Amino acid sequence: MQAEALMQQIADFQKTMNNPNAAVCDLGSGQDCDFNTYCKVFSGNRKNAVLYENAQGQKMMNFNVLSTYDLFSPCLDDETANKMKALETDPLVFPELLQSQRSDYQEKYKTQLERASGIFRDVKAQIVDVLKQRRSSANSKEIDAMIARVQSVEMSALKSFSVQALAEAGCDLPNAFYEPADHTLTLCPQILSAPDASIYMTLAHEIGHSIDPCVVSQNLEKTKDTTKYPFTPFANVDPDFVDHKNQTSIVSGVIPDKNPFDSVIQCLQSPQSVEVHLPSLVELKANLRKQIQESGFSGDSEEDPTVTILKRQLRDIDSNYKKMGYCSISTDEDGKDSDHSYMQESFADWISSKVLAAKLSGMDSARSKSWAFESQLIGLQLSCPAFTADQKEAIVSHLSPGACKTTKIQNILMRDDNKDSADHPAWTKRVSKIFLAQPALQKALQCKPSANVKACN
Ligand SMILES: [Zn+2]
Repeated sequence: MQAEALMQQIADFQKTMNNPNAAVCDLGSGQDCDFNTYCKVFSGNRKNAVLYENAQGQKMMNFNVLSTYDLFSPCLDDETANKMKALETDPLVFPELLQSQRSDYQEKYKTQLERASGIFRDVKAQIVDVLKQRRSSANSKEIDAMIARVQSVEMSALKSFSVQALAEAGCDLPNAFYEPADHTLTLCPQILSAPDASIYMTLAHEIGHSIDPCVVSQNLEKTKDTTKYPFTPFANVDPDFVDHKNQTSIVSGVIPDKNPFDSVIQCLQSPQSVEVHLPSLVELKANLRKQIQESGFSGDSEEDPTVTILKRQLRDIDSNYKKMGYCSISTDEDGKDSDHSYMQESFADWISSKVLAAKLSGMDSARSKSWAFESQLIGLQLSCPAFTADQKEAIVSHLSPGACKTTKIQNILMRDDNKDSADHPAWTKRVSKIFLAQPALQKALQCKPSANVKACN
């Protein structure tokens, strides 16, 4: 009887944790086109394991809640700990389950990866279209170089699903990344249960990095066994050590003065957009000197290769300033993508917003509305302000009365104190000032554009 009661409790809990409130994909006609309006729509699900689920069963899990529970699992009361344990059967929520060869886990992963591959091909074709529309007699060489990059990006799969490997790959949360060194893109399993539109936007953003103002300024060099951008200003690759003999093809870099998207790059720095702050030459030099000094190798003998590269950058910076300014992570960096600069992030968002706008134009109004809405889910589950306070409170109420409690509460309180404002200052801006600045999205969502925001073009 006791076991039965427990099973019933688990079932009830799973129901409350898993069943989000009715799926809505509507900001509400006439509402402001901004991030906070979105957050209000999800507010009812902020403490649930599932933040959003559409009619096709594609869903956005509430990873903030799940990971916070996970973090404090040793201190949860028994009942809650058991309930949490019962949830750990989905390999796309807990990808470490993929270490097991269980066929249902493997099958689910494979099926969803295939869905993502189909979306990947669609996104690539759509980005190429957006690039073609930009072509003129003055920039055709550069546009063609960008198209060649986009067409040659490939998807790469994770090789290990141990907790450590997942964390090292950045897959402890729903994440995706573009790796310039081999020109591939990886999706973390946690993204794969999301709606098509969310995956579409994530892929568009990541492919966008292959042509962002920093990465695109470097040559794309393909050798027999690998692809490399050997001269990325801030990469730990020394050009002298790259084996050029093995080279089979090369796509030339697009230098800043020839970038066909220069007007966008300028616009992204304006107050009506995301106000990317590029470091001045003086700031960049000071930053490089500081890095050299902090590395502790000031002598010339047996120098750390990183220092060699930093010194070379300092030597060449006067002629390379613009390029390095686009790549620098020294200012205004986005905490989520610390390998990329805010300029790179903003450009990748911008190109994905253009690609989404083009995609929406081919849909009827109902479909374009749900697509526009679902496109932003990944950022929302991480960063809606005011969610964390309630999530924190919910978790505190499920702590064991034992010894864990004091330190645990302190940890939880400390952990989230500045989270909304400090960790992801950029998400609000990115959604409100890049995506919702696009007239096509405003139309699809029937929201009210802000007078202080303009779309870059
Ligand atoms: Zn990025």
